[in-house]
Amino acid sequence: MKICIFLGAGASAAENIPIQNELFTDYFKYSLTNNKNNDMNKNLRTFFKEVFNIDVFNDDLNKVNFPTFEEVLGILDMAEQRRESFKNFGTETYNNKNGSINILRQYLILLMANAINNASKSSNKYHELLLKKLLKNNQLLDTTFLSVNYDIHIDNSISTIYDKVKFPIMLDYGVDFANFNFSNSSWKRPYGQSIKLYKIHGSLNWLYCPICSSLTLTPYEGGVMRILNNQEDATCLNCGEHTIPIIVPPTYFKDMSNVYLSNVWNKAESALRKVDLLIFCGYSFPEADIHIKYMLKRVQTSRKNNPLKIMVFNNHDKKLESSLIKEEKRYKRFLGENVFFTRDSFQDFSSDPIKYINFSKDMK
Ligand SMILES: [Zn+2]
Repeated sequence: MKICIFLGAGASAAENIPIQNELFTDYFKYSLTNNKNNDMNKNLRTFFKEVFNIDVFNDDLNKVNFPTFEEVLGILDMAEQRRESFKNFGTETYNNKNGSINILRQYLILLMANAINNASKSSNKYHELLLKKLLKNNQLLDTTFLSVNYDIHIDNSISTIYDKVKFPIMLDYGVDFANFNFSNSSWKRPYGQSIKLYKIHGSLNWLYCPICSSLTLTPYEGGVMRILNNQEDATCLNCGEHTIPIIVPPTYFKDMSNVYLSNVWNKAESALRKVDLLIFCGYSFPEADIHIKYMLKRVQTSRKNNPLKIMVFNNHDKKLESSLIKEEKRYKRFLGENVFFTRDSFQDFSSDPIKYINFSKDMK
Protein backbone atom coordinates (compact mmCIF):
# COMPACT_ATOMS: atom_id res chain seq x y z
CA MET A 1 0.00 0.00 0.00
CA LYS A 2 1.31 3.45 -0.88
CA ILE A 3 1.25 5.83 2.05
CA CYS A 4 2.23 9.39 2.80
CA ILE A 5 3.40 10.42 6.26
CA PHE A 6 2.82 14.11 6.88
CA LEU A 7 5.06 15.48 9.62
CA GLY A 8 3.92 18.55 11.53
CA ALA A 9 5.48 20.49 14.39
CA GLY A 10 4.19 17.98 16.94
CA ALA A 11 6.40 15.26 15.43
CA SER A 12 9.45 17.42 16.06
CA ALA A 13 8.20 18.34 19.51
CA ALA A 14 8.44 14.62 20.29
CA GLU A 15 12.21 15.10 19.89
CA ASN A 16 12.18 18.21 22.11
CA ILE A 17 12.08 20.93 19.49
CA PRO A 18 10.57 24.08 21.04
CA ILE A 19 7.10 24.91 19.83
CA GLN A 20 6.38 28.28 18.24
CA ASN A 21 5.31 29.99 21.44
CA GLU A 22 8.59 29.18 23.18
CA LEU A 23 10.88 30.40 20.41
CA PHE A 24 11.42 33.93 21.67
CA THR A 25 11.88 32.97 25.31
CA ASP A 26 14.35 30.25 24.27
CA TYR A 27 16.36 32.51 22.03
CA PHE A 28 16.66 35.49 24.36
CA LYS A 29 17.34 33.27 27.35
CA TYR A 30 19.98 30.97 25.92
CA SER A 31 21.40 32.34 22.70
CA LEU A 32 21.41 36.10 23.15
CA THR A 33 24.05 36.11 25.91
CA ASN A 34 26.70 34.69 23.56
CA ASN A 35 26.59 37.65 21.27
CA LYS A 36 24.70 40.56 22.74
CA ASN A 37 26.15 43.28 20.58
CA ASN A 38 26.04 41.98 17.06
CA ASP A 39 23.80 43.81 14.60
CA MET A 40 21.11 41.19 14.71
CA ASN A 41 20.68 41.21 18.47
CA LYS A 42 20.87 44.99 18.76
CA ASN A 43 18.20 45.29 16.09
CA LEU A 44 15.95 42.70 17.67
CA ARG A 45 16.29 44.37 21.05
CA THR A 46 15.24 47.74 19.67
CA PHE A 47 12.35 46.20 17.80
CA PHE A 48 10.91 44.41 20.83
CA LYS A 49 11.38 47.51 22.96
CA GLU A 50 9.76 49.88 20.48
CA VAL A 51 6.91 47.70 19.30
CA PHE A 52 6.09 45.40 22.23
CA ASN A 53 7.64 47.27 25.15
CA ILE A 54 9.76 44.26 26.08
CA ASP A 55 13.40 44.75 27.05
CA VAL A 56 14.98 41.43 26.09
CA PHE A 57 18.29 42.41 27.75
CA ASN A 58 16.93 43.36 31.17
CA ASP A 59 13.40 42.08 31.71
CA ASP A 60 12.79 38.82 33.59
CA LEU A 61 12.26 36.59 30.57
CA ASN A 62 10.43 33.95 32.57
CA LYS A 63 7.69 36.45 33.22
CA VAL A 64 7.50 38.10 29.81
CA ASN A 65 4.40 37.31 27.79
CA PHE A 66 5.93 37.29 24.30
CA PRO A 67 3.80 37.70 21.19
CA THR A 68 3.78 34.59 19.00
CA PHE A 69 6.22 34.25 16.15
CA GLU A 70 3.29 34.30 13.79
CA GLU A 71 2.09 37.64 15.18
CA VAL A 72 5.48 39.32 14.93
CA LEU A 73 6.26 38.11 11.46
CA GLY A 74 2.68 38.67 10.39
CA ILE A 75 2.73 42.39 11.15
CA LEU A 76 6.10 42.81 9.42
CA ASP A 77 4.83 41.02 6.34
CA MET A 78 1.77 43.19 6.29
CA ALA A 79 3.85 46.36 6.61
CA GLU A 80 5.97 45.24 3.69
CA GLN A 81 2.98 44.35 1.60
CA ARG A 82 1.36 47.72 2.22
CA ARG A 83 4.68 49.59 1.95
CA GLU A 84 4.08 51.08 5.36
CA SER A 85 6.22 50.96 8.47
CA PHE A 86 6.42 51.20 12.26
CA LYS A 87 7.84 54.13 14.13
CA ASN A 88 11.62 53.95 13.92
CA PHE A 89 11.45 50.97 11.60
CA GLY A 90 11.34 52.34 8.13
CA THR A 91 11.96 51.02 4.70
CA GLU A 92 15.41 51.42 3.18
CA THR A 93 14.47 54.68 1.51
CA TYR A 94 13.52 56.75 4.52
CA ASN A 95 13.84 56.76 8.30
CA ASN A 96 16.63 54.22 8.28
CA LYS A 97 17.42 54.51 11.99
CA ASN A 98 17.09 50.89 12.95
CA GLY A 99 17.35 48.98 9.74
CA SER A 100 14.64 47.98 7.39
CA ILE A 101 11.67 45.74 7.91
CA ASN A 102 13.17 43.33 5.43
CA ILE A 103 16.38 42.93 7.46
CA LEU A 104 14.38 42.53 10.63
CA ARG A 105 12.34 39.84 8.99
CA GLN A 106 15.50 37.97 8.05
CA TYR A 107 16.79 38.29 11.61
CA LEU A 108 13.58 36.80 12.95
CA ILE A 109 13.83 33.85 10.60
CA LEU A 110 17.42 33.28 11.70
CA LEU A 111 16.32 33.52 15.32
CA MET A 112 13.77 30.80 14.73
CA ALA A 113 16.28 28.68 12.81
CA ASN A 114 18.73 29.06 15.67
CA ALA A 115 16.28 27.88 18.30
CA ILE A 116 15.26 24.89 16.20
CA ASN A 117 18.82 24.05 15.25
CA ASN A 118 20.03 24.04 18.86
CA ALA A 119 17.28 21.64 19.79
CA SER A 120 17.90 19.51 16.68
CA LYS A 121 21.06 18.25 18.30
CA SER A 122 18.87 16.14 20.55
CA SER A 123 18.08 12.59 19.47
CA ASN A 124 16.05 11.45 16.47
CA LYS A 125 14.60 8.64 18.55
CA TYR A 126 11.05 8.45 17.23
CA HIS A 127 11.88 9.30 13.64
CA GLU A 128 14.49 6.54 13.59
CA LEU A 129 12.14 4.09 15.23
CA LEU A 130 9.46 4.81 12.65
CA LEU A 131 11.88 4.28 9.75
CA LYS A 132 13.20 1.04 11.19
CA LYS A 133 9.70 -0.38 11.59
CA LEU A 134 8.68 0.63 8.08
CA LEU A 135 11.86 -0.83 6.64
CA LYS A 136 11.48 -4.11 8.51
CA ASN A 137 7.97 -4.57 7.17
CA ASN A 138 8.79 -3.66 3.56
CA GLN A 139 6.71 -0.51 3.74
CA LEU A 140 9.48 2.09 3.55
CA LEU A 141 9.84 2.20 -0.23
CA ASP A 142 6.10 2.73 -0.55
CA THR A 143 6.21 5.68 1.81
CA THR A 144 6.50 9.34 0.87
CA PHE A 145 7.34 11.83 3.58
CA LEU A 146 5.90 15.29 3.51
CA SER A 147 7.16 17.69 6.14
CA VAL A 148 6.35 21.24 7.18
CA ASN A 149 9.26 21.23 9.64
CA TYR A 150 12.59 22.94 8.94
CA ASP A 151 14.59 20.79 11.31
CA ILE A 152 16.44 17.79 9.92
CA HIS A 153 15.30 14.94 12.17
CA ILE A 154 13.64 12.96 9.42
CA ASP A 155 16.37 13.83 6.90
CA ASN A 156 19.14 12.56 9.13
CA SER A 157 17.15 9.48 10.08
CA ILE A 158 16.67 8.58 6.42
CA SER A 159 20.33 9.20 5.54
CA THR A 160 21.43 7.06 8.46
CA ILE A 161 19.83 3.89 7.14
CA TYR A 162 21.63 4.23 3.80
CA ASP A 163 24.10 1.42 3.28
CA LYS A 164 26.12 1.12 0.08
CA VAL A 165 25.74 -2.66 0.00
CA LYS A 166 22.78 -3.68 2.12
CA PHE A 167 20.41 -0.76 1.53
CA PRO A 168 21.60 1.50 -1.27
CA ILE A 169 18.48 3.66 -1.14
CA MET A 170 19.08 7.40 -1.16
CA LEU A 171 17.13 10.32 0.20
CA ASP A 172 15.45 12.38 -2.52
CA TYR A 173 14.31 15.91 -1.64
CA GLY A 174 12.83 16.38 -5.09
CA VAL A 175 15.15 19.28 -5.95
CA ASP A 176 18.46 19.64 -7.75
CA PHE A 177 21.28 20.80 -5.55
CA ALA A 178 24.46 22.52 -6.74
CA ASN A 179 26.24 19.71 -4.88
CA PHE A 180 25.32 17.33 -7.71
CA ASN A 181 27.63 19.18 -10.10
CA PHE A 182 30.75 18.38 -8.10
CA SER A 183 32.21 14.90 -8.36
CA ASN A 184 33.90 15.22 -4.98
CA SER A 185 30.65 16.13 -3.22
CA SER A 186 29.49 13.81 -0.46
CA TRP A 187 25.87 14.26 -1.59
CA LYS A 188 25.12 12.66 -4.96
CA ARG A 189 22.09 12.92 -7.17
CA PRO A 190 19.71 10.13 -6.12
CA TYR A 191 19.29 7.34 -8.68
CA GLY A 192 17.39 4.08 -8.72
CA GLN A 193 14.94 3.67 -5.88
CA SER A 194 14.87 6.46 -3.34
CA ILE A 195 12.95 7.66 -0.34
CA LYS A 196 11.08 10.84 -1.10
CA LEU A 197 11.03 13.63 1.43
CA TYR A 198 9.23 16.80 0.37
CA LYS A 199 9.86 19.73 2.70
CA ILE A 200 7.18 22.13 1.59
CA HIS A 201 8.18 24.96 3.94
CA GLY A 202 11.92 24.72 3.30
CA SER A 203 14.74 23.35 5.38
CA LEU A 204 17.56 24.35 7.71
CA ASN A 205 20.10 22.61 5.47
CA TRP A 206 19.19 24.42 2.27
CA LEU A 207 21.11 27.54 1.27
CA TYR A 208 19.61 29.47 -1.59
CA CYS A 209 21.73 31.75 -3.77
CA PRO A 210 19.72 34.71 -5.08
CA ILE A 211 22.54 35.60 -7.49
CA CYS A 212 22.76 32.41 -9.57
CA SER A 213 19.53 30.79 -8.31
CA SER A 214 21.15 27.58 -7.19
CA LEU A 215 20.59 25.62 -4.04
CA THR A 216 23.42 24.33 -1.86
CA LEU A 217 22.78 21.47 0.53
CA THR A 218 24.70 21.21 3.79
CA PRO A 219 24.29 17.50 4.53
CA TYR A 220 23.55 16.46 8.12
CA GLU A 221 23.82 19.99 9.52
CA GLY A 222 21.61 23.04 9.67
CA GLY A 223 23.75 25.10 7.28
CA VAL A 224 21.47 28.11 7.70
CA MET A 225 23.28 28.64 11.02
CA ARG A 226 26.39 29.50 9.05
CA ILE A 227 24.60 32.61 7.82
CA LEU A 228 24.26 33.66 11.43
CA ASN A 229 27.68 32.60 12.69
CA ASN A 230 30.04 33.08 9.79
CA GLN A 231 28.78 34.45 6.48
CA GLU A 232 31.90 33.19 4.69
CA ASP A 233 30.92 29.59 5.39
CA ALA A 234 27.46 30.14 3.98
CA THR A 235 28.40 30.80 0.39
CA CYS A 236 26.96 29.32 -2.77
CA LEU A 237 28.76 26.19 -3.97
CA ASN A 238 28.25 27.33 -7.56
CA CYS A 239 29.28 30.98 -7.61
CA GLY A 240 30.62 31.78 -4.15
CA GLU A 241 28.09 34.51 -3.35
CA HIS A 242 26.29 34.83 -0.02
CA THR A 243 23.21 32.69 0.43
CA ILE A 244 19.90 33.11 2.19
CA PRO A 245 17.65 30.53 3.85
CA ILE A 246 14.57 28.97 2.25
CA ILE A 247 12.33 28.93 5.28
CA VAL A 248 8.66 29.73 4.97
CA PRO A 249 7.55 30.94 8.39
CA PRO A 250 4.15 30.05 9.84
CA THR A 251 2.30 33.21 8.90
CA TYR A 252 -0.78 33.99 6.87
CA PHE A 253 1.09 35.72 4.06
CA LYS A 254 3.32 32.92 2.92
CA ASP A 255 5.66 33.59 0.05
CA MET A 256 6.14 30.32 -1.81
CA SER A 257 7.39 31.83 -5.02
CA ASN A 258 10.89 30.38 -4.74
CA VAL A 259 11.44 28.17 -7.77
CA TYR A 260 12.81 25.23 -5.76
CA LEU A 261 9.91 25.36 -3.38
CA SER A 262 7.43 25.37 -6.28
CA ASN A 263 9.09 22.20 -7.53
CA VAL A 264 8.76 20.56 -4.17
CA TRP A 265 5.06 21.48 -4.00
CA ASN A 266 4.42 20.03 -7.46
CA LYS A 267 6.09 16.78 -6.55
CA ALA A 268 4.30 16.63 -3.21
CA GLU A 269 0.96 17.03 -4.94
CA SER A 270 1.62 14.35 -7.53
CA ALA A 271 2.87 11.98 -4.84
CA LEU A 272 -0.29 12.58 -2.83
CA ARG A 273 -2.40 11.67 -5.82
CA LYS A 274 -0.84 8.21 -5.85
CA VAL A 275 -1.16 7.30 -2.18
CA ASP A 276 -3.96 5.28 -0.60
CA LEU A 277 -3.43 6.48 2.93
CA LEU A 278 -2.37 9.86 4.27
CA ILE A 279 -1.16 9.90 7.87
CA PHE A 280 -0.90 13.21 9.71
CA CYS A 281 1.57 13.21 12.60
CA GLY A 282 1.72 16.10 15.03
CA TYR A 283 -0.13 18.47 12.75
CA SER A 284 -3.00 20.53 14.10
CA PHE A 285 -4.32 21.71 10.70
CA PRO A 286 -3.85 25.43 11.43
CA GLU A 287 -5.92 28.17 9.81
CA ALA A 288 -2.81 29.81 8.38
CA ASP A 289 -1.93 26.81 6.21
CA ILE A 290 -4.37 27.53 3.42
CA HIS A 291 -1.87 26.40 0.76
CA ILE A 292 -1.86 22.96 2.29
CA LYS A 293 -5.63 22.86 2.51
CA TYR A 294 -5.84 23.89 -1.12
CA MET A 295 -3.48 21.12 -2.21
CA LEU A 296 -5.30 18.50 -0.13
CA LYS A 297 -8.69 19.48 -1.47
CA ARG A 298 -7.50 19.30 -5.04
CA VAL A 299 -6.00 15.88 -4.46
CA GLN A 300 -9.02 14.62 -2.57
CA THR A 301 -11.57 15.71 -5.16
CA SER A 302 -9.87 14.49 -8.32
CA ARG A 303 -8.85 10.93 -7.74
CA LYS A 304 -9.06 8.08 -10.21
CA ASN A 305 -8.57 5.42 -7.55
CA ASN A 306 -10.38 4.81 -4.28
CA PRO A 307 -11.01 7.72 -1.95
CA LEU A 308 -7.98 8.95 -0.03
CA LYS A 309 -7.96 7.48 3.49
CA ILE A 310 -6.84 9.82 6.21
CA MET A 311 -5.54 9.09 9.69
CA VAL A 312 -4.45 11.61 12.34
CA PHE A 313 -2.02 11.28 15.26
CA ASN A 314 -1.90 14.49 17.19
CA ASN A 315 -2.22 13.64 20.85
CA HIS A 316 0.33 14.10 23.62
CA ASP A 317 0.40 13.65 27.40
CA LYS A 318 -0.71 17.12 28.33
CA LYS A 319 -3.33 17.70 25.70
CA LEU A 320 -6.82 18.43 26.94
CA GLU A 321 -9.77 16.46 25.68
CA SER A 322 -11.42 19.75 24.71
CA SER A 323 -8.52 20.60 22.35
CA LEU A 324 -8.72 17.15 20.79
CA ILE A 325 -12.41 17.56 20.13
CA LYS A 326 -11.79 20.92 18.46
CA GLU A 327 -9.02 19.50 16.32
CA GLU A 328 -11.08 16.51 15.29
CA LYS A 329 -13.86 18.84 14.18
CA ARG A 330 -11.42 20.99 12.24
CA TYR A 331 -10.10 17.97 10.34
CA LYS A 332 -13.52 16.51 9.68
CA ARG A 333 -15.25 19.68 8.58
CA PHE A 334 -12.61 20.17 5.91
CA LEU A 335 -11.67 16.65 4.89
CA GLY A 336 -14.86 14.77 5.67
CA GLU A 337 -16.36 12.57 8.36
CA ASN A 338 -14.31 9.53 7.31
CA VAL A 339 -11.10 11.01 8.69
CA PHE A 340 -9.87 8.62 11.38
CA PHE A 341 -8.83 10.91 14.21
CA THR A 342 -7.00 8.65 16.66
CA ARG A 343 -6.40 9.51 20.31
CA ASP A 344 -2.79 8.42 19.85
CA SER A 345 0.47 10.33 19.51
CA PHE A 346 3.30 10.44 16.98
CA GLN A 347 5.27 8.34 19.47
CA ASP A 348 2.52 5.69 19.45
CA PHE A 349 2.46 5.65 15.67
CA SER A 350 6.27 5.43 15.39
CA SER A 351 6.38 2.51 17.79
CA ASP A 352 4.02 0.38 15.71
CA PRO A 353 3.16 1.96 12.36
CA ILE A 354 2.24 -1.34 10.72
CA LYS A 355 -0.56 -1.95 13.21
CA TYR A 356 -2.22 1.31 12.17
CA ILE A 357 -1.51 0.88 8.46
CA ASN A 358 -3.14 -2.56 8.55
CA PHE A 359 -6.07 -1.15 10.43
CA SER A 360 -6.62 1.39 7.67
CA LYS A 361 -7.41 -1.41 5.23
CA ASP A 362 -10.82 -1.71 6.87
CA MET A 363 -11.44 2.02 6.77
CA LYS A 364 -13.83 3.58 4.34
ZN1 LIG B 1 25.32 31.30 -6.60
